[in-house]
Amino acid sequence: MSIREEDFKYMQIAEQVAEEMSTCQRGHTGSILVKKKEIILAAGDGTAGCIKSCAELKECPARPKQYEERTGIRLRKCICAERKLISLAARDGIAIGGGTMYVTKKPCLTCAPSIIDAGIERVIYDADNTDTMTSEMMKEANIEFLQLK
Ligand SMILES: [Zn+2]
Ligand SMILES: [Zn+2]
Repeated sequence: MSIREEDFKYMQIAEQVAEEMSTCQRGHTGSILVKKKEIILAAGDGTAGCIKSCAELKECPARPKQYEERTGIRLRKCICAERKLISLAARDGIAIGGGTMYVTKKPCLTCAPSIIDAGIERVIYDADNTDTMTSEMMKEANIEFLQLK
């Protein structure tokens, strides 16, 4: 369970994906999936492909804070890069189980269960956040979950 030299190279590519493929003004995250040293998928955060992006709308549409307080659910039109990648794999029948996911930010609590269920075995992220539950879930699911340092 440690960072490998190749992880830095792949993270650089994930950073480029964030730069080029993210259409979200708020998130700005990139994710790639590597299997047997090949990049098989890449996704940035943003709206579903056919939906107007928040870059076009000049805002990131979300349910108001009151909705979150009332329901405990944080909702926005955009989807995280990790779940977008998993959705694309589902659409095209791409087997991502057993792969390594590189993501420019630590996955959120909503993405963590999808990553686990998708069978991804290794997750390398760059920017950290203060939430610890994602790390706990990954540990429980036996997923190698490491910040690139
Ligand atoms: Zn957005
Ligand atoms: Zn997420």
